[in-house]
Amino acid sequence: MKGHNIPSGDLRRIVAEIAAEMAAETDRGTVADYIPQLAKVDPKQFALVISTADGEFITAGDAETHFSIQSVSKVFTLALALGKLGERLWTRVGREPSGDPFNSIVQLEHERGVPRNPFINAGAIVVTDSILSDYEPKEALAQILQFVRYLASDEAIAIDPAVAKSELDTGFRNAALANFMRAYGTIIGPPEHTLGVYFHHCAIAMTTRQLAAAGRFLAFDGQLDPGGSRVISTRMARQINALMLTCGHYDGSGEFAFRVGLPGKSGVGGGIVAVVPGQASIGCWSPGLNAVGNSQLASRALELLTRRTGWSIFAPR
Ligand code: GLN
Repeated sequence: MKGHNIPSGDLRRIVAEIAAEMAAETDRGTVADYIPQLAKVDPKQFALVISTADGEFITAGDAETHFSIQSVSKVFTLALALGKLGERLWTRVGREPSGDPFNSIVQLEHERGVPRNPFINAGAIVVTDSILSDYEPKEALAQILQFVRYLASDEAIAIDPAVAKSELDTGFRNAALANFMRAYGTIIGPPEHTLGVYFHHCAIAMTTRQLAAAGRFLAFDGQLDPGGSRVISTRMARQINALMLTCGHYDGSGEFAFRVGLPGKSGVGGGIVAVVPGQASIGCWSPGLNAVGNSQLASRALELLTRRTGWSIFAPR
């Protein structure tokens, strides 16, 4: 099976089987606890949702449970910032994998305050600052939230204020990154404004179904549906997918590309969005993380899914 046009009955069976296998897993990783509010989440949860080209949603597990999308939001802010600034964004943030943890500080000094890529925390904070440029923090945040609602076609998506506060209260490391970059001029606005918006967009709560819906524009070359409303240019959508493949899982990006073979972006809430270009957007969620901060079971489930469907961006067309 090459992975094209898999009958939806087969996909349903595969998704249900994977969910059943994940339910039986005993080694589920560890829930993030450096953001105290996230430490309260039940690690037994799991969901897998596939949103196909013809608009069908194939779901298994806790697909309607809200979770904190955390760094998955960095894909949406990058799309918004690229749409606004275009190529100018790349003077302030790079496009290389970092090989370091998502919250690393060490590389930033060597590279004079310009973060390696938009998906590590430092890079995402720069992207947030670029969205903020001429706006009040509240306005910028409203734009981001509105954009995510538009992508997912769901006006009910909201920010979890308890998670945002929890991170504001404890985000000293991110504050260090922001202040350091302000010293280099990579960040232009007051660091506390940028951080406030950053923590709040990381605290957006979504269901796995909503996440799968929100990833559709990346599966369909910048359009919400094949041939449908355009969100960003084809070129930008492909560039974001390239960055997701190379940088979407921090220092676990090589491993994810090797095992799953799809562009994907993870967050410490345990969510991953992944795309099969031209065919499907996938949301997967389980709160327990592996050693590099990516969902253990969601990574595993996506590996099983691509093996069983034949989906891979390296598959011959
Ligand atoms: N809000 C989190 C942080 O800044 C996001 C990290 C992540 O999901 N990897 O630490």
